[in-house]
Amino acid sequence: MNGLDLLGPDQRGLYIGGAWREAEGGERLDVIDPADGSVLTDVADGSVNDAVDALDAAVAAQAAWARTPPRERGEILRTAFSLITDRADQFAHLMSLEMGKTVAEARGEVGYGVEFFRWYAEEAVRIHGRWMQAPAGGSRLLTIKKPVGPCLFITPWNFPLAMGTRKIGPAIAAGCTMVVKPASQTPLTMLALAGVLAEAGLPDGVLNVVTTTRHGEFSQTLQADDRLRKVSFTGSTGVGKVLVRQSADQLQRLSMELGGNAPFLVFEDADVDAAVDGAMIAKMRNMGEACTAANRFLVHRSVAQEFAEKLGQRMGGLTLGRGQDEGVDVGPLIDEKAVESVSQLVTDAIHDGATVVTGGQAPDGPGYFYPPTVLLDVPVESEINVQEIFGPVAPISTFETEEEAIQQANDTEYGLASYVYTRDLARTIRIAESLDFGMIGINSGLISNPAAPFGGVKASGFGREGGFEGIEEYLETTYVALPAG
Ligand code: NAP
Repeated sequence: MNGLDLLGPDQRGLYIGGAWREAEGGERLDVIDPADGSVLTDVADGSVNDAVDALDAAVAAQAAWARTPPRERGEILRTAFSLITDRADQFAHLMSLEMGKTVAEARGEVGYGVEFFRWYAEEAVRIHGRWMQAPAGGSRLLTIKKPVGPCLFITPWNFPLAMGTRKIGPAIAAGCTMVVKPASQTPLTMLALAGVLAEAGLPDGVLNVVTTTRHGEFSQTLQADDRLRKVSFTGSTGVGKVLVRQSADQLQRLSMELGGNAPFLVFEDADVDAAVDGAMIAKMRNMGEACTAANRFLVHRSVAQEFAEKLGQRMGGLTLGRGQDEGVDVGPLIDEKAVESVSQLVTDAIHDGATVVTGGQAPDGPGYFYPPTVLLDVPVESEINVQEIFGPVAPISTFETEEEAIQQANDTEYGLASYVYTRDLARTIRIAESLDFGMIGINSGLISNPAAPFGGVKASGFGREGGFEGIEEYLETTYVALPAG
C-alpha cells in the first residue's frame, strides 16, 4: 500500500459538478516527493475558465443544497467520517508521500482531521435561530439562520487533510456549496477526499476541487464574481492580506487562518520534565511546519540550562528519514526553499550569539532534510524569534520576571497559539488574561481539538474553525419582525 491506490484512474483531474475531467488544454502539474525530489505523479493544472466552471457548478447546486434536510447533510458527513476512518492507513500513506511527514504523524492528522466531519455531522441538526418578545412588548423578534452561499476554500500544504476538513465539514453542515483549491504541492489528499465525499452521497456540485498553479488569477477571478459569498483561507499572512483586499469590491465574508509565532513559556515553578514533553509535541509536530508550532522558547533563567539540556537530548535522539520508512521520527521539509530559510535563520541566530545544543547543520541531499535543532541564549530580538521558523528548530531565550515574560511573548505581530508551563494557579489566570493570542495551552503542548474554536488575532487572522463557533462562519442571520398578534 502506498496511498496512491486511493485515487481512481480519473481522479488526478479536476472535480467539477460531480465529474472528473481534464484541465482546459490538458495541462498538468507535477507532485514532488520531498524525500528525494523525484516526481511522484501529476495532476490537472486548472485554468481560470476551469475555476469559473467550478463556481458555476457550486452556484447551480446552492439552492437545492440549502433546502436539504440538516439530518441528510449530517449523515453524509458521518458516512464520510466512517469511510475515511476505515481507510486511515491509505490516507496516512498518501499524505506522507506528498508532504513528507511520517506515516505515524499522518495517521494522527487523519484522526484529527476526520473528527471535523463527525463534529459537524452532529452540529448540522443544531442550527437554530431565536424567538423573543421585544423589550417594549409590542412585537416579536424572530431570527433565521441561512447558509452564506457558495464559498471558496484555499488550503496550505502542511496539513493536506485537516486544513480541508475544518472548512468543508462546517460548510456542508450549514448547507453551503464550495470550490476548493488545495496547495499545488499537496493536491492528492484533497482529490482522495473529494472521492470519499462523493461515495458518501454528497450531491454533484456541492464540492468542487480545482488543482492549479495559477493561484493569483484564480483567486482574483473568483473573488471578482458577485456569486461567490465567502472566502476561507488557511496559509501565510502575506497571501491572506491579498485575499482580504480582493474581497473588498464584493464584500465577501472572510475567515483568515494565517501565520503564527507561538511563544512557549516555562516559569521557574514549572515541572521541567513535563515542559520538555510538551515542547516535543509543540515543536516537533509536523516537523515544526505548523502554524501552532512553538516558535520561541521563553524560559526562566533559573531553569533554562536544565530545560535546554533535556530538550537537546530528546531532539538529538530523533531519527531523520523518509516518512514512510520504519523507525523514522522526522521527515523532510516541504522543499529546498524551506531548508534554505531554516538554515539562514539558524546561521543568523548563531551569529547573534546563540549556542548550538544539538543539530544546526542541514545534511547533504537528496531530499529536503533539516535536523532537529536546539539553540540556547538566543537574543530575543534575533530574526529567528521574529519570523515563523516552520522547521524543527527550538530557539531558547531567557527572562527574569513574569512581566518580562508576558512582554516578550506579546512582542510579535502574530497572535495564534501560545503555551505556558507553570504550577501556580494565580499566575495561570494572570497570564491567560494577559497573552494576546487566540489560543493558550496550559501545561500542554497540544491544543488543537475539533470541538474547540481554533483561530488567531492580529496578523494571525480572524474567524474560528471547530467548536460551536466554526459553523457560524458559514451562516447568515435574517431577522424577521412580527406583530404581537
Ligand atoms: P501560502 O503560500 O500562503 O499558500 C497557501 C495556499 O494559498 C496555497 O494553496 C497557495 O497556492 C495559495 N495561494 C498563494 N498565493 C495565492 C493567491 N494570490 N491567491 C490565491 N491563493 C494563493 O502558505 P503555505 O506556505 O502553503 O502554508 C504555510 C503558512 O500557512 C504558514 O504561514 C502557516 O502558519 C499558515 N498556516 C496557518 C494555519 C492556521 O490555521 N492559522 C494552519 C496551517 C498553516 P499554491 O500552493 O499554488 O502556492
